[in-house]
Amino acid sequence: MSLFNAYMSLSGVTDATVTRGERLAHHTTLHVGGPVGLWIVAHGYTGLARVVTVLDRERVPWVVLGRGSNVLAADKGFEGAIITLDDEFARLSVGDDGTVTAGAGLLLSKLVNEAMRHGLSGLEPCVGIPGTVGGAVSMDAGTRHEWIGKRVHDVVTYRPGEGMRRYDGGEIEWGYRRCTLPADEIILETTFTLLPAEKAAIAADMDARLRRRRQSQPVGKPSCGSVFVNPGTSSVGMLVEGCGLKGLVKGGAQVSTTHANFIVNNGGATAADVVSLMGTVHDAVLERYKVDLRPEVKLVGFGA
Ligand SMILES: Cc1cc2nc3c(=O)[nH]c(=O)nc-3n(C[C@H](O)[C@H](O)[C@H](O)COP(=O)(O)OP(=O)(O)OC[C@H]3O[C@@H](n4cnc5c(N)ncnc54)[C@H](O)[C@@H]3O)c2cc1C
Repeated sequence: MSLFNAYMSLSGVTDATVTRGERLAHHTTLHVGGPVGLWIVAHGYTGLARVVTVLDRERVPWVVLGRGSNVLAADKGFEGAIITLDDEFARLSVGDDGTVTAGAGLLLSKLVNEAMRHGLSGLEPCVGIPGTVGGAVSMDAGTRHEWIGKRVHDVVTYRPGEGMRRYDGGEIEWGYRRCTLPADEIILETTFTLLPAEKAAIAADMDARLRRRRQSQPVGKPSCGSVFVNPGTSSVGMLVEGCGLKGLVKGGAQVSTTHANFIVNNGGATAADVVSLMGTVHDAVLERYKVDLRPEVKLVGFGA
């Protein structure tokens, strides 16, 4: 792997910005994580294709990041490249037929609000979820019973070495915090099919959902969302509470006192603190309930 060669090759590319030494703590909502080899913002398709071609040629591992709102990044950082999408990938257009097309780099909140402004219903379950459209589609974000995949008409991705691909929403399997889009493809753009509805009714529904979210989630503190996937019909929060671990502290990290499936950063938390809490929670739930919790949060930089 040659990070240096990649950096040199990419420093002249006009459609992407490449910097070194960025810390993942500045790009994740948990505010944890060390330096990355290359931090790359792709402003358009040409730049993105060039970036991926060079990184693959130089055997530099890369990861696409949205707003890092479902990510736990290692204290040692990531000795590869992080790619984020902006500009050309942050566009939004509303069709006459109830469809909305959004770039993967667009904030999910902008999409949700624009849909409401145009009197289009279907994305209300996503109100208050941080991150980008690409992250939301990749994670099939939503609530336990309603998720964004249900609204997807089609997704356009970039397949390294091949170019753009288009998938119908119906040919993708959507599941709880996952979808079957190939993991090595980059989501570029998604079209959603929405239904006309009264703007005021959509806004009222969104307000109610936001209120519930503020009551049930530690929205004021840095976190990475739900840490573990809810197993079956059980709630991780209830299982963790049942083990008496709500509020457990390790260094600067704490099992949230508001929702026990969140770990918050009270200031100065390290990834090691978070991993330690995750281990304690996992083992306690396994011992008491015989439930083997699976992380929902995506790990970056924990490989060998
Ligand atoms: C306070 C809080 C509350 C939350 N509440 C919810 C909730 O109610 N429901 C819910 O579902 N989630 C929730 N989350 C988790 C998180 O916000 C969502 O998973 C969100 O959709 C992630 O978006 P992101 O852009 O930040 O993605 P990131 O966290 O940056 O990335 C998540 C994954 O998506 C992949 N990815 C990102 N962009 C692309 C792309 N363009 N192409 C391919 N892969 C991509 C990344 O590689 C990674 O694997 C919450 C998080 C927080 C901090």
